[in-house]
Amino acid sequence: MVISELKKQIEQMLLDSGNEDFQFEAREIVREVTGRYSEDKAVTDTEYEKCMQMAGRRVKGEPLQYIFGRWEFYGYDFFVGEEVLIPRPETELLCEKAIEHLKKSGGDFADLCAGSGCIGITVARQTGEKCISVELSEAAFYYLQKNILCNNAEKLITAVKGDIFDEEVISAIPDDSLSAILSNPPYVNKRDMENLQAEVRYEPEAALYGGVDGLDYYRRIFVAYDKKLKKGGLFAVEIGEEQGNAVSLLMEETGYKPVIIKDYSGLDRIVMAIK
Ligand code: GLN
Repeated sequence: MVISELKKQIEQMLLDSGNEDFQFEAREIVREVTGRYSEDKAVTDTEYEKCMQMAGRRVKGEPLQYIFGRWEFYGYDFFVGEEVLIPRPETELLCEKAIEHLKKSGGDFADLCAGSGCIGITVARQTGEKCISVELSEAAFYYLQKNILCNNAEKLITAVKGDIFDEEVISAIPDDSLSAILSNPPYVNKRDMENLQAEVRYEPEAALYGGVDGLDYYRRIFVAYDKKLKKGGLFAVEIGEEQGNAVSLLMEETGYKPVIIKDYSGLDRIVMAIK
C-alpha cells in the first residue's frame, strides 16, 4: 500500500464518523506517522497499524491534538495532553498584539493561567523579553516545563506553580514591573459547559469553566494585577465571543480604557487596554 491509498482509507473512516474536516485530518495523521508526506511512498506494516490506531481514536471523538500529543502554535511545537487546553489559532492573535506592543516597549511580562505555556513561550521567543508564567494545575505545570525546555526558552521564562490569585504569587511580582500582562483564563459559562462540542469535552474543565456567567476570572484579574503593570503597559485577555462588553466594563471599573478585538472569524476575542 502507498501513502495516497492509506490516506483514502483514513478519509473514508473519518467521513463515515461524520467528520467534516476528514481530508485535512487524514493528511495530518499520515504525515504524523510517516514523516514527510509523499503520495507514492510505500507504507510499512507498523506505519499502517499506527495510522489505523490513531484514526480509530479520532473516530471515537478524541481531538487530533491529544492523539498526537503535540500541536503547532505560532510556528512552535507544543506538547499537549488532556491536562491542558489545546492551543487555538484565536490565541495566536493575543500573542500578536503582545508581540507588537513589547517590540516597541521592551520589558518583562506575565502569562497568567499559562497551561501548556504557549502564550508566554511564543511571545518571549518572538521578542526576547522575559516572562513569568503562572499555572495552578500540577499536571499542566508538567507540560509548561516541558514546553519551555523544548522551545529553548529556559532563560526567558520563569514558571511559577500556584494560584494566580494567591497573595504569595502576586506579591512575588514587584509593583510597576511588567510591560504586559496576558491571560487566556477559563471563560466558558455554565450553560455552554453543558453544550460543549464533542472534542472540547476532552479538555480539562479547570481550564474551561469560568463560573456561572464565565466571568469569574475577569472579575478579579484586573483588580489583582493592576499594580503590577507599568504605566504604558498592555493588559490583554482572551474572552468568549459574547463577553466583549462585560469584560470591557470590568476593565473600565479598574480605570482602563479597553478596546475589543475580533478574531479571524469576526467574533469578539480579545479585550485589551494600555495603562
Ligand atoms: N476557547 C475555548 C473554547 O472554545 C475556551 C478557552 C478558555 O476558556 N479559555 O471553549
